[in-house]
Amino acid sequence: MSTVSPKQQLMIAKQQLDKLSIFIAGLADFFYGASPAIDDDFQAIKKLLSGKPDYDKATELSVGLNARLKKESKYMQQKNADTLSQIQKSLRQLTELEVVDDDVKKEIKSFIQNLVPDDSKAACSPISQFEQALGLFKKALSNNVVVADHVEEAEQQRLHLEITRELKELIAPYYIKNAKNAKGNQKDSTIAELNQKLNEGLGHKELLECCLVMIRFVIKDVITEASAASKLIHDIHRSLTKINQGIKTTIVKSQKRISKREQQNKLMKAQISAMENTLSDTNDVGDLKKHTAEYLTQLQNSLSMSEHEERVEQEKVITLLQSMQKRLEELEQRADAYKNKLLEQRINAMTDTLTKLPNRMAYEEKMAAEFSKLKTSGAPAYMAIFDIDHFKQINDKYGHSVGDKTLQIIANQLRKLLPKTDFLARWGGEEFVSLLRDNDIDEAFNKLEDVRNKIAKLPFMFKGQRVSVTVSIGLTELSGRNSVSEAFDIADKLLYQAKQNGRNQTCFKETND
Ligand code: GH3
Ligand code: MG
Ligand code: MG
Repeated sequence: MSTVSPKQQLMIAKQQLDKLSIFIAGLADFFYGASPAIDDDFQAIKKLLSGKPDYDKATELSVGLNARLKKESKYMQQKNADTLSQIQKSLRQLTELEVVDDDVKKEIKSFIQNLVPDDSKAACSPISQFEQALGLFKKALSNNVVVADHVEEAEQQRLHLEITRELKELIAPYYIKNAKNAKGNQKDSTIAELNQKLNEGLGHKELLECCLVMIRFVIKDVITEASAASKLIHDIHRSLTKINQGIKTTIVKSQKRISKREQQNKLMKAQISAMENTLSDTNDVGDLKKHTAEYLTQLQNSLSMSEHEERVEQEKVITLLQSMQKRLEELEQRADAYKNKLLEQRINAMTDTLTKLPNRMAYEEKMAAEFSKLKTSGAPAYMAIFDIDHFKQINDKYGHSVGDKTLQIIANQLRKLLPKTDFLARWGGEEFVSLLRDNDIDEAFNKLEDVRNKIAKLPFMFKGQRVSVTVSIGLTELSGRNSVSEAFDIADKLLYQAKQNGRNQTCFKETND
């Protein structure tokens, strides 16, 4: 038997305890985040074991930690069992779906049977089962998507056309601006290409790419605008600072001038009183003449000196004022140009490119402003929604561009037939909305009926055939409502009623059938 000295024993014990410390630190990292209480305990034990270790305290703490770990693993096992039963439930639902392949269903059923919670397993046991279940979901879904695609094809086609149309509208102002600015300069080919692509017609994927390009373009434009605006503001600020400095210098200078003139006045007064004294004391005519001449020269010198200085100062001030004025004029011109540009942009953003009528955004803004005015004035006002009848048929029979042209004509006519004081906007698609300034609803109704009849008589010729295009109208009171959207909803219901009753008519009273 080999003897181990106490010193060696101590060394071995220390080495073992060090290893244990490293193990506990690793364990703490593994469990980190499982529960705040466990984290705290581990943190405390790690501290006790590092630097100058206190093994006694660490052992004491580890007893508490053990109890906690036991409790937590029970909780985790329960959670695992819950997860598994959830997976089972979802998978079972999957087997009841018609669209899921029979083979996949079989596979799912056998998987469910084998899916038994194993109490003895460690905390992470359901993960691999979860992965398998996900795989089965994917398989079942891949069939489902194909079916859904088929069912929703028509809807997708409609959406596709709508996105194309909206993109075209969004691009139009940039396209025009780009063409205008491009004289001689380098043209931004992205916009031209995008416009051409949109006109040629695109696949779903390409359309999505176009949307992304457009979003990027709009963001770029916004950033450029923002930096132009901030440069202008910076310039104005710099110029104003300079002007302010100029004014300060002028004030300081004129203050100096005043005190200088006061000094000169004093000097001249002193010269005059000295002259008076000398003259009163002088008896000799020769002396008198001599003295007088001397004093007069002195006075003249003082006077001409101050006159000259004043003129120089004045000239300086005038030059300064002139330069300040010029700078202000320049600034004013630049600010005006920028204001005009902003105004132009605002008008573009508020105008529908196809019909040139105010767009939905303009409608929201105008209605909000008018509604709050109506609330205080109490004046009567009405809201009408116009919707072209069977417009889809025009698109389907004669093509989209004929549809576009029809929309333009109807918009023009509505604008022409309604009084200038009645606000009219394109609300979207083939729907228009108007704010009518009539004294009562009968007056508004008669006016709308007149407009509607005139629209129905417009001589539209499609493919050599005379076709009449009609509109249905929902009319309601705007004043006295709780909100613009409340009035809109009621007008929309009445419009629906007009459609139900056979179209080409105006409804303003709800009927209960
Ligand atoms: P209803 O009488 O019930 O109003 O029938 P409708 O066909 O007019 O109504 P529906 O809402 O079914 O169809 C409206 C169509 O208008 C569908 C859409 O493609 C078309 N549309 C919307 N905006 C535009 C556009 O800017 N240009 C063209 N050409 N068509 C558009
Ligand atoms: Mg409609
Ligand atoms: Mg319609």
